[in-house]
Parts: sequence; C-alpha cells; structure tokens
Amino acid sequence: MHIHFLGTSSGVPSQTRNTSSTAISFDKTKSWVMVDCGEATQHQLLKSSLSFFHLDVICISHVHGDHCYGLPGLLSSMSMNGKMSPVHIIAPKKVIAWLHATFHMSDTRLSFDLITHDISEMEGSSDFNFCDIEVIALKHRVSSFGFKVSEKLIPKKLKIEKLTKDSIKSGPHYNKLQKGEDVVFGSQLLSSKDYTFQSWQTRRVIVCGDNERPALVANWCSDIDVLVHESTFTHSDLHKVGFHTGHSDAKRVAEFAQLQQIPTLILTHFSVRYHGEHGLESLRREANHYYCGNLILAEDFFTFSIKKIKLHLEK
Ligand SMILES: [Zn+2]
Ligand SMILES: [Zn+2]
Repeated sequence: MHIHFLGTSSGVPSQTRNTSSTAISFDKTKSWVMVDCGEATQHQLLKSSLSFFHLDVICISHVHGDHCYGLPGLLSSMSMNGKMSPVHIIAPKKVIAWLHATFHMSDTRLSFDLITHDISEMEGSSDFNFCDIEVIALKHRVSSFGFKVSEKLIPKKLKIEKLTKDSIKSGPHYNKLQKGEDVVFGSQLLSSKDYTFQSWQTRRVIVCGDNERPALVANWCSDIDVLVHESTFTHSDLHKVGFHTGHSDAKRVAEFAQLQQIPTLILTHFSVRYHGEHGLESLRREANHYYCGNLILAEDFFTFSIKKIKLHLEK
C-alpha cells in the first residue's frame, strides 16, 4: 500500500508545491484512490507513476478550492483519454452540484459513469471491492472530512495442518478455498474462513482534510499504520494568524499522534511561508519535540510505502 503526495501546499500553489491531493495505491490491483484534487492535480499526475485509467474512487474532503478546483479538468481529461470504467466520487453535495453545472455549461459528456456519493450521508464502512473507506467528520470553517482507507484483496494462505487433520485431501477445492470461496466437499460445506488466513496484516491509513481538532480522529486510530494530517502552521504562527482559520499546527497534531501511538505521522498542507529552502525546519522541530514515532513532512511527488507485516499461523 502506497501513499503518493501530488500536492502539499495550503491555499495557493508555489513553485515547489501544488495544492492538495493525495493518492493511495495498492499491491494487488491497479485501482487507486485520490483524496482531494486541487487545481492542476492532473498535471501533477502526468509527472507521477499513477494512471488516469485506474483512478476509481475520488474523495473530496471539503468545498474549499484548494481541495477541489482540479476536479472538472481531471475528469474531462480522463474521459478524453478514453477511460470507460466507472468512477466513484465521495464529496460534499455542493461539489457534486458544481461539477454537474460545470459539465452542463461546458457541454462536457464523460465516457464513463460518474457514481456520486453525498459525503454527509455516508455511514460506517463502504466497500469499493479493492478497499474499504470510512468517512470521519472533522472541524474546519466549513464541513470537512477525513477518510480511513483499508486495503483488501490480501492473498490467503491455506491452513494445511487443519485440512490434513480434518482429512480433506488436496484437489481443486484447495484453490477455491484459497480464493475465498466456500466449497462442498463430500457431505460437508467447507468455509474458506476456517481453512485460510491472510498472508499479511491489513494496512490502513487515514488522510484528513483541513481540520483544527485532530482529536476528532481518535476513534478511528487504534489500528492505523499512517495518519496524514494537515499542519498548516507552527503553534506560534497559528496564534499570530488566528484560530479562525480552522487549521492545525505541528504541535497539536504531533501531541495527538503521540497520545494515540500512531506509528507514522505524515504532515502536509503547509502554508507558503514555509516553502523556502529551510522553511520546514521549524515545523519539523516542533513536531519532533512532541512525537517520537516516524515523522515525515511530505513533499510533492514523495511516496510512502507501508511495509507488509507477514502473518504466520499460530500452532
Ligand atoms: Zn486547504
Ligand atoms: Zn479548507
């Protein structure tokens, strides 16, 4: 499972950072998920290893332009490049209405089905075949959300000892069990769950939209590998700018990640004041002071791969 940073600036782009967009790709499928789509995200995509054709789910955290202005251009380019498979979009109702109005006004007809999901009506975990997505309500100047993405399609291994013990000899049913199918063997129904186990532990990541209250993510954190959270300012700069911006600072996010024992914290969405050569050092120092885990400050085109933790059958 890999997290690709396509845009790591807040509000406006700079020469080194585009506005928000993060992608999540997987090992056993080419399908991938995009979280947020700032203006010119399609240009960033062209410089990355990700393919338009396999972008199957787009999540938009909130209505601010630095998180969604790239959407109409990206979708119409995907269409002009001949994408046929459907695209799911999880977004605020207003973003969906704006998209439809833009396509209507510009006489754009997409080559694929756009399946829209109103984010405020998403509850629990949604199954997108290759991953599950849960929506988390955050706090910002407007409604804002985070997305917990859990991988699926993890290959299964057979519990050979149990199969032997239960006198189930090898044959085509082994293959089916391994693929997750329940099979009839003699007079018994064999459940794939009873005779297989996952090759590796499910990997999970949370990617947040703009959020002034990291603690809102707490109920989703116990089993995640990575938290991607905005850190628009340092603590003292946020004091100067004012809390009405609805953003987080490095201290607050780092304290939260430490409290929750999150293995990897990736900060992003940096104000342009930190984009210079040594600009990020103040953010890094501050976060490092409060968080002892694996801290990363994202750059455009940086990719973080979450390692697999292989599972073994307990004897
Ligand atoms: Zn933003
Ligand atoms: Zn915002």
